Amino acid sequence: MDFELPEELRLLKENIRRFVDRELIPLEREVVNDIKLQKALPNRLRDKVEALGLWLFDVPEEFGGAGLGMLAKVMVWSEISRTTALPARYIEIFGPPVSPILYTLEGEARENYLMAVIRGEKKSCFAQTEADAGSDPAAMRTMAVRDGDHYVINGVKRFITNADEADFAQVFAVTDPEKRARGGITGFLVDMNTPGVKVTASYDLMIDDKPCEIVFDNVRVPVGNRIGKEGEGFKQAQSWINSGRIRHGARSLGVIERCMELAIPYAKQRKTFGAYLAERQSVQWPLIDMYMDAHKLRLMLYHAAWRFDRGEDCREDAFMVKIFGDERSFWAADRCMAIHGGIGLSKELPIERFFRDQRSMMITEGPIEILKMTLARHVLRTYG
Ligand SMILES: Cc1cc2nc3c(=O)[nH]c(=O)nc-3n(C[C@H](O)[C@H](O)[C@H](O)COP(=O)(O)OP(=O)(O)OC[C@H]3O[C@@H](n4cnc5c(N)ncnc54)[C@H](O)[C@@H]3O)c2cc1C
Repeated sequence: MDFELPEELRLLKENIRRFVDRELIPLEREVVNDIKLQKALPNRLRDKVEALGLWLFDVPEEFGGAGLGMLAKVMVWSEISRTTALPARYIEIFGPPVSPILYTLEGEARENYLMAVIRGEKKSCFAQTEADAGSDPAAMRTMAVRDGDHYVINGVKRFITNADEADFAQVFAVTDPEKRARGGITGFLVDMNTPGVKVTASYDLMIDDKPCEIVFDNVRVPVGNRIGKEGEGFKQAQSWINSGRIRHGARSLGVIERCMELAIPYAKQRKTFGAYLAERQSVQWPLIDMYMDAHKLRLMLYHAAWRFDRGEDCREDAFMVKIFGDERSFWAADRCMAIHGGIGLSKELPIERFFRDQRSMMITEGPIEILKMTLARHVLRTYG
């Protein structure tokens, strides 16, 4: 067994770390209050990102991207998550975010939707969740009924990120109510300017994301805009979810590492009752736990990514990195805040952002309680 990272991955990791330290961390305080600067970052950093070879790093080579493997992506995601200068989700400095489902498109749809997104001409959103179908998406009520060479879609989607900016939505709807998750849900590409599509509300959250509600009222969608075959939607929506969960784990690793980088120097210079915080056992122990958590998460992550790159089934590995990573990074942010005392709550420091973002990560892309429920089935089966 070889625990050494290959040379090219070690260099990639070092280069991104340097980029984050030099270009992003110094901007954190400014970015908090300056929307213009946030929006300008992708253009401002484009040359540097290209010089690093990271432009479109997660887009496959056949579509013009750098086509990094999962292990390499883990290096990028974990390093860039050490900073709050970038949004926690939908990071645009490496090129437009591309929903992996779009890679399954063929023919005209590939050009009009996938390639248009990659070229930055169109934005998309992913519309699966509904008011009564969040953790349990198979309970969705939005219906798509075939009518000649069209489908007619009716329903309401909720919590859809970027719906207000999107040119089109990847909408999941029931095409066979008897089958539902087992072949009764289908994905569609719906242009947001189609008659009957309306963004009706948005939710102000404790994080930067402002997801919206979309109403579909007798929306006619050409059959050519169906994603894959009828009934494949649920499988498609789940198929990219492993990589999303590995991304969560990688983000968590970056957050835990940064919490240590913040908490340790602070504890070494802050004196109370005549002694440095770093000398107190109650401060040392959470730091040790963060250190061990980072090590455990790194091993789990690299293993999950390695299996992913070999084309092995890494579903349970992906569950573990998301559950462990989301929980322990939130805990690290909480302890980092405790060590800093009152100043830990300040927007001058990135800690409160990590605290809010990591709490939200436990809910999105599969709430950890649901992941635990599914992982429990595997554990009970395996050790039964
Ligand atoms: C910021 C943000 C962005 C989002 N973006 C998108 C998007 O772009 N597209 C999209 O389709 N969706 C999106 N979502 C929706 C997200 O995926 C759902 O919020 C999530 O799946 C949880 O669904 P829910 O909110 O309806 O919670 P519910 O399903 O009502 O669950 C509530 C709580 O109960 C727990 N729970 C539920 N069932 C069980 C069970 N069986 N056992 C134990 N505990 C259980 C859950 O863990 C959860 O904590 C977004 C949500 C947020 C907050």
